[in-house]
Amino acid sequence: MTSQREPGFRESVDLMFQRAIRHLDLPPGLEHKIRICNSTYAVRFGVRLRGKIETFTGYRAIHSEHLEPVKGGIRYSTAVNANEVEALAALMTYKCALVEVPFGGAKGGLHIDPRDWETSELEHITRRFAYELIKRDLINPSQNVPAPDVGTGEREMAWIADQYQRLNTTDINARACVTGKPLNSGGIAGRVEATGRGIQYALRSFFRHPEDAALAGLDGTLDGKRVVVQGLGNVGFHAAKFLQEEDGAVITAVIERDGAIIDENGLEIEDLRRHIVETGSVRGFGNSTFVSDGAEVLAHDCDILIPAALEGAINIENADRIRAPLIIEAANGPVTFPADEILRRNGKIIVPDAYANAGGVTVSYFEWVKNLGHIRFGRLQRRQEESRYELLINELESNFGRELSDEFKQKYTYGAGELELVRSGLDDTMRGAYESMRDVWHGWNDVDDLRTAAYIVSIQRVAASYEAAGL
Ligand code: NAD
Repeated sequence: MTSQREPGFRESVDLMFQRAIRHLDLPPGLEHKIRICNSTYAVRFGVRLRGKIETFTGYRAIHSEHLEPVKGGIRYSTAVNANEVEALAALMTYKCALVEVPFGGAKGGLHIDPRDWETSELEHITRRFAYELIKRDLINPSQNVPAPDVGTGEREMAWIADQYQRLNTTDINARACVTGKPLNSGGIAGRVEATGRGIQYALRSFFRHPEDAALAGLDGTLDGKRVVVQGLGNVGFHAAKFLQEEDGAVITAVIERDGAIIDENGLEIEDLRRHIVETGSVRGFGNSTFVSDGAEVLAHDCDILIPAALEGAINIENADRIRAPLIIEAANGPVTFPADEILRRNGKIIVPDAYANAGGVTVSYFEWVKNLGHIRFGRLQRRQEESRYELLINELESNFGRELSDEFKQKYTYGAGELELVRSGLDDTMRGAYESMRDVWHGWNDVDDLRTAAYIVSIQRVAASYEAAGL
């Protein structure tokens, strides 16, 4: 039955959890222990700016410490509140478990509109917020490791890492206190693109199973599929770009804050991004049609809808009008619980957030491991691999008396660098997690959607950790 009331974000996540828990037989009390958020720290701090003291409110919620460190991004937005960070922290627990990243779940947020402040002011505010969290071990390489989220990126992560280093000058692992850093501050190749790249790998995993695609009334590959994207930020941009450039998908509409644009022949995503940076708007791009009520375009006819902005985009008000047969949740919580029930009733297939956008945390895990290892992935073996392949090619050529093509030789002997290894690890992770969800989706009685399957896989893994720990 569809509830007629729109629940809050936290409640929506809990309702999805409870829908899944009905399929499991957990020891008494464990369901509650897994579901609740362990702690939420709220801090109010003052920063002297523009001749007066400005007070900011920030949060760091820890949902589950069954594994440490706990992991989750820091969001800068005026919509940030305790309920939101708790919901996002819970999703992090389920996401990490699903993609077998050995972290508990956390999330942070600062109630701020970053566009209101100059770069130097934002640095000041970020360092002050980081200080408040660091001194309570709410940023710490072995306990609590943030990452970028809405409104933050590499720049903020570099400030946070530097702030931690200043306060912990002898900690040799200091750089592992935060992920999503720029390469020159201990970051990893492929982290910026990772969440969007993960969306691409998730969709490829889905279309690798014609029976799954058929459930959405789709067939073939991603080639030629019509895609609508909401939010052309870090995640939405990279997802759209890779799907367009590498899989032949056609991005027919993009929805942004100020409206949406539609072009059935396809929007050039790189050019559109440049247009947005230059003009501050999607309006006036190429031959596209501008729609001022952008949210209406969520209901546009297409094959795949990618909500990549914020939570609650598809809700009780508009769920019935959604036409896309396949929705992949690039954002966290873009479909509310009642909307999810409506969409399922209407036969839509939803690839859930906990799986779909797990590329970010997966590559963050690689970055954290790199920081602890103090060496770039591939540095030791790359040239050694190349010389082994060259040896083989030389032997083949001299035995068969025929030269292989330069193109083949170049491709074959190319030793994997960090970026190739990161993409390979991410692809493997996304394929593996899809199969684990799919086994439950198709193999368990009465489980008829990927979200419930994802929750079941995650909850089982978290429960096993708690039970092994002797709780
Ligand atoms: P971002 O700030 O880079 O991008 C968000 C985009 O959405 C911006 O372009 C913004 O203008 C747009 N937007 C905001 N409100 C909108 C509205 N009402 N309608 C249309 N567009 C709107 O943020 P991001 O990092 O891309 O994150 C997007 C979503 O993905 C969030 O839900 C986030 O939690 C989730 N996510 C991000 C990462 C990551 O690695 N950055 C990882 C996992 C999940």
